[in-house]
Formats: sequence, C-alpha cells, structure tokens
Amino acid sequence: MRRTVYGPEHEAFRASVRTFLDKEVGAHRREWDEAGLPPREFFNRAGEIGILGLGIPEAYGGGEAEFLFNAVVTEEAAHAGYALGPLRIHADICVPYFVHHANDEQKARWLPGLASGELVAALALTEPGAGSDLAGIATTARRDGDHYVVNGSKTFITGGLNADLFVTAAKTDPTQRHAGLSLLVIEAGAAGLSRGAPLEKIGLHGQEAVEIFFDDVRVPAGDLLGDEGAGFTYLTSNLPQERMSIAINAQSAAASVVEQTVTYVNGRKAFGKSLGTFQNTKFVLAGCATEVEAGQALLDQALIAHRDGELTPADAAKVKLFCTEMQGRVVDECLQLFGGYGYMSEYPVARAWTDARVGRIYGGSSEIMKTIIAKELGL
Ligand SMILES: Cc1cc2nc3c(=O)[nH]c(=O)nc-3n(C[C@H](O)[C@H](O)[C@H](O)COP(=O)(O)OP(=O)(O)OC[C@H]3O[C@@H](n4cnc5c(N)ncnc54)[C@H](O)[C@@H]3O)c2cc1C
Repeated sequence: MRRTVYGPEHEAFRASVRTFLDKEVGAHRREWDEAGLPPREFFNRAGEIGILGLGIPEAYGGGEAEFLFNAVVTEEAAHAGYALGPLRIHADICVPYFVHHANDEQKARWLPGLASGELVAALALTEPGAGSDLAGIATTARRDGDHYVVNGSKTFITGGLNADLFVTAAKTDPTQRHAGLSLLVIEAGAAGLSRGAPLEKIGLHGQEAVEIFFDDVRVPAGDLLGDEGAGFTYLTSNLPQERMSIAINAQSAAASVVEQTVTYVNGRKAFGKSLGTFQNTKFVLAGCATEVEAGQALLDQALIAHRDGELTPADAAKVKLFCTEMQGRVVDECLQLFGGYGYMSEYPVARAWTDARVGRIYGGSSEIMKTIIAKELGL
C-alpha cells in the first residue's frame, strides 16, 4: 500500500542518505565486522552530512528536523542490512535527553559537538544485575561538594567504545527506587571510568556492546541532566522514541528480507521448477508480505502520532512489540526458503536472522512491552 507518512522533502533526504550509507558503511562492512565496531571517523562524516544532529536546534548546529528524518535514516540502514545501532543510540535516543533536559550552559557545551560528530553519546542504563527493572539499578552517585562520586558498572552498552559521553543512570538516593534515580552525563575520559572489550554477540557484528566500570568517578555537579531524582521520569518520556527507533529498524529489515526472498525463490530451481512456483513458497511469502504490510500500517500511524506529540508509552510499546515479533517470524520463514544457503553467513538473510533476535530483548523486552500495554488496559 502507498505510504503517506513521508513527503517529497523526506524522499529527497532519503536518496542522499542512501548514497552516504552505501559509500561510508556498505563499502566497509567487512572491516566493521572484523573490528567489531565502526571507525570513530564514521561519526565525523555522519556529522558532516547532518544525520547526527537532526533533532538538535539550528542555533546549536543541528538540523532542527522532526523525527521523521531520523526514521528515514533508520529505514535506509535497516533495508540495506547495516548495523547502525551506535548512530541510532546517539541521534534517536541520546540527543533528546540533551535537547529536553540540559540547561542552557550544558546545551552550549555539548550540543554543537553532538551535531558535528566531535562528541558521540551512548546510553548507559543496563547493569549486570538490572536490565528490565531500571529502578533496581545499583550504580550510585554520591554528592561530595560540587561533584558526584560514581561507583558501579553497566553492561551491553551499544557504541560504548567510540562514545565520548555517557548518559548514565545512577542512584543519587539509593534508599529510593524510582525517585532515587538521576541522569548524569559522564565523560569517557573521566578518571576511574574504564571500558571492557566488545562483548561477543551472536549478531550485529559491526557494532559494539561493552561493559563500563565506574570506580570513584568524580563527575561535576554541573553535569547532572535536569533535576536530581527525576531520572526515571525522563526515561519514561524518552523511551517511546527509543522503541519507535527499534520498531522502524525491525520493520524495514523485515520488508527487505521479503524482497530478497522473492528474488531468490524466482532464481532457485528444485525438481525442475523455480522455488517460487511451489504453493508452499507462494503461501509463505504471501503471509510474510501481509505481516509486513500490517506492521507498516501500525508503524506509520505511530510515526504520525509521534510527530503530533500524541504517541503514548503504551502505543510505542505496542508498535515495538508487534514490529519486532513480526520481524522474527518473517525473517525465520524467509530463511527457511533459502534452504542451506540461508544458514550461511555470507547470505544477507542469515545475517538478518541473527541481527533480528535482539529486537525482542533490548530497549525493553517483549514481556516488558506487554506489561506496559496491560497496565493501559487497567490490568
Ligand atoms: C546487543 C544489545 C545492545 C544493548 N544496548 C544497550 C544500550 O546501549 N544501553 C543500555 O542501557 N542497555 C542496552 N542493552 C540492554 C538491554 O536493554 C537489556 O538487555 C534488556 O532491557 C533486558 O534486560 P536484561 O538483559 O537484564 O534481562 P532481564 O531483565 O534479566 O530479563 C530476563 C528475562 O526476564 C523477563 N522479565 C523481566 N522482568 C519481567 C517481568 N516483570 N515480567 C515478565 N517477564 C520479565 C524479560 O522479558 C526477559 O525475557 C543492550 C542489550 C543487547 C543484547
């Protein structure tokens, strides 16, 4: 079905993003995979073409663009099968924390660098002992004069090796759960902060997820984002956009895999006929195409609601739940149609399959999405 969410300005932008990604990511994919992360300079080049600071006001060097432009970047990257998690974490997820919760002095200090790529941001919430239960984190930030002293550790932090700034959740009042949580911006070079080697993952090989350790890290009190104790509220208001970003990625990746599979089954022969002539192949792909269409309709409606400031946390949870679960079903069915080749790493469908799995886990698992939706139902 024809999509109506985007206008000519988004499509013109899409064309330039596609060219950029093919040149800067596609051409170097093997190197990224082998290194386990993108080179730091990639972010400078992404900053130059303006895709790091789309949500940053023009006064601070950003594009002051609506989220639909970020969505275009994610769609293009996911359609090509590129793992651009660190860029999405920076642009879709971290930038809003700075734009909405930093004071004027902090904005002047950080936003220009975040737009240009001089500064790369990552989000440090999850800990070895607490992922879904964010209010249960154990990292502490104890006030000591005009500093906070941070102790604890984080894990699975996407983009953690290239990041210059970590938007970090810490307990400023460890006796409280939600009300004790604050957000601090911590510089990667701070004394006492160390990072582990990239964790070995089953997919998303071209992007890193790392552990971070805080050992008496002294953070200036002026690097607190917003109010002390308001961290959980900020997370709640920003997580819907994070979930949209994950849903867009899942949706576009699923659509791309269906396209690739149609091409494959038309070219591959078995029993003297093309695979595409078997009724099973037709039915499976017809079902997948319908699932993708349903996801697109839901997602596009949510993109409009988000643009209009009407997307609720439960809406975002429904979209993430549906699109990531749909991606899992569709990619698995498509892989089957590739036969043994679907299990070979050099085939994009194999990569799409391993990359897809985490969509149902990170940014809030499917079970947590259901918890949020059930709450809206009054359960
Ligand atoms: C590749 C990757 C990248 C990531 N990037 C980042 C990042 O950049 N920054 C960051 O902060 N985090 C990141 N994460 C962490 C991610 O968000 C968490 O893994 C996720 O929120 C789940 O937390 P957990 O792993 O601790 O699982 P747990 O919270 O231990 O959950 C384990 C299982 O229990 C279920 N469960 C938990 N609570 C409930 C409940 N109340 N009801 C029903 N079921 C429940 C979960 O759904 C899950 O199936 C990343 C993770 C991965 C794998």
